[in-house]
Amino acid sequence: MTGAPQPLARFAGAVSALLDADLPEAGLLGEGGRLLAALVATDGWLPDAFARPGPERYRQYLLHRDPQERFSVVSFVWGPGQSTPVHDHTVWGLVGVLRGAEVSQRFRIADDGGPIPDGPAQRLEQGAVEAVSPKVGDVHQVFNAFDDQVSVSIHVYGADIGATRRWVYPLSGGRKPFVSGYDNDEASAPFVLELEEHVV
Ligand code: FE
Repeated sequence: MTGAPQPLARFAGAVSALLDADLPEAGLLGEGGRLLAALVATDGWLPDAFARPGPERYRQYLLHRDPQERFSVVSFVWGPGQSTPVHDHTVWGLVGVLRGAEVSQRFRIADDGGPIPDGPAQRLEQGAVEAVSPKVGDVHQVFNAFDDQVSVSIHVYGADIGATRRWVYPLSGGRKPFVSGYDNDEASAPFVLELEEHVV
């Protein structure tokens, strides 16, 4: 694959500039959220290779990794009815719905380590953006809102999220260490979009 789609290249360049500005987290999530909302406002730029669902479970494709590993951009692809486990991120993150819709349920962690739903589930329609972080709420479970169509969201995180050590929280209690990786790691690494020379 040669070159990154213009909207993605522009987004990655703008997030890089935002991080250079070294804003407090609230400012970063606000400004970054506006950039992500603009990115997911139009569909059609994400190559099909990064929008393919898996038969068994959701897929996550690395779109861009900051050369300094300050952030990563990932497409999440939900087959009909698919969902994540309850999980955290340990870093700031922004989720923007590009296609379809998602349902996000926040959790808090009880004294015994088990996850407890925190407020009602929220439905995120196409174009909606949501923030996560240890400060604003970091534990959630995400579902495709549809059982008969694929949904796609674009995520940006304040780390190389596929290599970040974090946790899943089984509903039965306790927590388990978790490193997500990427579905286009290794075998399909050439599909990772190389942005550096395209960012203006
Ligand atoms: Fe998440």
